[in-house]
Amino acid sequence: MDLLLYNSLTRNKELFIPIDPNEVKIYTCGMTVYDYAHIGHGRKYVMDDILKRVLVYNGFKVKHVQNVTDVGHLVSDADEGEDKLEKGATKQNKTVWEVAEFFTNNFYKSMDKLNILRPDVICKATEHIKEQIELIETLFKNGYAYDTTEAVYFDTSKFKGYGEMFGQEMGDKKTGVRSEVKTDKNKRNNADFVLWFKRVGRFKDHVMHWNSPWGDGFPGWHIECSSMSMKYLGEQLDIHTGGEDHLSIHHPNEIAQSEGATGKKPFSRFWVHHAFLMVNGKKMSKSLGNYFTIQDILDKGYDPLALRYLYLGTHYKKPMNFTWQSLESASNGLKNLKSSILNLKSSPRNILSDDKENKIEGFRNKFLSAINDDLNTSKALSVVFEVLKSNIPSEDKYDLVISFDEILGLKLKD
Ligand code: AMP
Ligand code: ZN
Repeated sequence: MDLLLYNSLTRNKELFIPIDPNEVKIYTCGMTVYDYAHIGHGRKYVMDDILKRVLVYNGFKVKHVQNVTDVGHLVSDADEGEDKLEKGATKQNKTVWEVAEFFTNNFYKSMDKLNILRPDVICKATEHIKEQIELIETLFKNGYAYDTTEAVYFDTSKFKGYGEMFGQEMGDKKTGVRSEVKTDKNKRNNADFVLWFKRVGRFKDHVMHWNSPWGDGFPGWHIECSSMSMKYLGEQLDIHTGGEDHLSIHHPNEIAQSEGATGKKPFSRFWVHHAFLMVNGKKMSKSLGNYFTIQDILDKGYDPLALRYLYLGTHYKKPMNFTWQSLESASNGLKNLKSSILNLKSSPRNILSDDKENKIEGFRNKFLSAINDDLNTSKALSVVFEVLKSNIPSEDKYDLVISFDEILGLKLKD
């Protein structure tokens, strides 16, 4: 059955066909590990997990790579402000390295609790400095990079179409136009972004630093995703995912760097962007401090899978407001669903009806066409309830629902 995905690059729902039929290559931007993973991350990565499980269910072999941003990138997506990891280290009274390790572990443990399958490759920015330097060297060779006393930049004016990616306006990208932001006078265009920060000026005491052809310093944030995705997946990806905050800066920069290096080979065929989990109308975020962690969910006596169930009720491209009340309803919903499934096991065998096979096939198709329609999880869940209410034999209901759970990941068997 056809799999349709909304592609932010073309702003259309498109038929998914992998570049290499033998392996779908997915890259997911990971977390900046300076604070706890929260349930906003949970929503985003559960939906990535659904995408991966849907691909597998459709018969594709998948290779999934995810980075860990453990070189502190700055408090804004543009090259402004403080280093997030150094800020985290001060707050936690730890070294930047300890902070990164602690929160990387916290992130993956939290994701495990949500039954998210681990990526095939988890790669840390700090362990790929050499690859990032090599990529910057290629960008110099191809005429996209330049050097000032403060940093190495990507010259966005050299990359045709930079301002229009994902339907963004160039105005969205102007950095350094606000009075509090200190900019490098030798930067050529406002939108140019840093490939390598030199350990001078405001960064003269930067804790994480490495040697490079441009002196002692540390990589800009965006370069890690281009270099690590290319290292593990090759020059072209099938699907690249990220939160919708990456539409304006991070992902256009990844495209510019990657295609600037490979000679404009399309970096990724599909770009999937997720809407946020909100609290009281604001994005749940580490920087705002308005977040709940998986541990908070456990402390209140909820199963993290109730949270997964709650996420599935809203399409990944729609913003979702988190309330404890909504989690309470989801928790009851999941408990009821599990007990109906448990009851199926002890139900007497139903009489076989003539059209049983057709009905089962019908449900299978209905479920798959819902989930294959740009991951319509809430519609797919409604098919689960239709199956349970139907008159097909209990053991067939059980088998069907358990096979759907390969995608839903709610551990309905347990
Ligand atoms: P960060 O560590 O903040 O860079 O986030 C890692 C990923 O999680 C990014 O793709 C973000 O867009 C995403 N993310 C962060 N906060 C939320 C949220 N409240 N809801 C959904 N996704 C989020
Ligand atoms: Zn990224």
